[in-house]
Amino acid sequence: MYNSDDPIFNTVEIGGHNFPGTWRYILHPDFINLKIPKEKLADCTNCPMVILNNYNPQYKCCTHFAQIPNFQIGLALKDPASRVIAQNVIDNGLALPTGIEITPRYYIESIGAHKKNLFGKSIEILCPFMDRSKGMCTIYPYRTVICTTFFCGHDHCKNGILYWEKLSEMAHHAERAITQWSMKKSGMNIERYMERLDDLSESLGELSGIPSYAWSKKAREYLYGSWFGKEAEFFEKCADHVMAHRGDLWEIGCSQDIIEALHFEEAVDNLLNIQTVDQANGQTNGETCNDHFINHDSSDDDFSLVELWENLNHATDKLYKLPQNGQILSFNNEAEIKENKMDSPLNTLFKNRPFYVTLISKTGDEPVTIFLTSEEKEALSLFLKPVKIENSIFNSIKFLKIEKPEEFISKFIGCNILIIQNQLND
Ligand code: SF4
Ligand code: SF4
Repeated sequence: MYNSDDPIFNTVEIGGHNFPGTWRYILHPDFINLKIPKEKLADCTNCPMVILNNYNPQYKCCTHFAQIPNFQIGLALKDPASRVIAQNVIDNGLALPTGIEITPRYYIESIGAHKKNLFGKSIEILCPFMDRSKGMCTIYPYRTVICTTFFCGHDHCKNGILYWEKLSEMAHHAERAITQWSMKKSGMNIERYMERLDDLSESLGELSGIPSYAWSKKAREYLYGSWFGKEAEFFEKCADHVMAHRGDLWEIGCSQDIIEALHFEEAVDNLLNIQTVDQANGQTNGETCNDHFINHDSSDDDFSLVELWENLNHATDKLYKLPQNGQILSFNNEAEIKENKMDSPLNTLFKNRPFYVTLISKTGDEPVTIFLTSEEKEALSLFLKPVKIENSIFNSIKFLKIEKPEEFISKFIGCNILIIQNQLND
């Protein structure tokens, strides 16, 4: 039953980010205590990609097909604010018993559009849950892992990317485990379902019609079995089980074996490889953040949920790594602090920050540019000459105007602007 005060129907705010309410329950109980990086660079209220990369100002990075687990769709159906859109998406044939799933044909088309650098720009690949007139997500408390963990910029550079990758892997694994568990609890034989999906690997081209993002009636009839025609009821049943067992979902997820339709996945991969080679024809622009959105691979498959949680904790330690007393902290001699002359769209975007530090690595890592306030520039400049770390360093006058000196330092260590050495000339 819907209750607007129930946390499962509301997002949970951690570190300034809004996560789906179910994540309180399906992830490790300590998830809500995580120190999650803010990601100030990806300011969705003033999206830099609209200014720098011509993203559509209304839809921004929602130009991808959000694949939402069955129990989240069930919750969205119970919620009066999202009931109609969730029902429409089901009626339009976008849902399978596991939830909203992309069809092989639409997957290929999306990749084609992404390779043409249309991500963020083409509304042909707009998420079905986007309210086109308002430019708003209609199922915000129930959105999926990618919507929640994608950021177009990372304050902690590659350590930030790693962090979100690990969080995304854990959440994705947990969602898949609970998806399959809730299917079973609702009376669907999960092994039989995967066998049916495998059967369809022979006829990938016939699984969708027009529009290509809808699953054909024949495919849905086969996959839903006796639940065909009662899809909304099925999804709500999945949500009921999640609500009733909310206190045990982490343990349930940990003990749930995830079953896969390997033939089906292999057939999709083969089709994808053929089509991607055909589409390339020299027009690809290499890896972009877009690829992140349509990654069918499950890199979490080789790990248990407990291992994925540990991996996330290691990524957190890396994020906030600090030098120990007696170690030396110095400015990377490949980095440079410059004045922001507002002579490019990027520099103009950070017009309130009069300086920036830049690093063009010789080792092939992504170039780094971080804009600085005058106070941050002063604090960072402290390390232009190597400094031996003592507890008192963060009480230095240069840090007085820095809100969280330890986090400030760890960010520059993570971005390789500051280097930890055991002794001078290490
Ligand atoms: S994450 Fe998306 S909406 Fe947010 S700033 Fe980046 S591109 Fe814009
Ligand atoms: S589910 Fe919501 S947040 Fe995610 S892509 Fe769709 S509209 Fe955007």
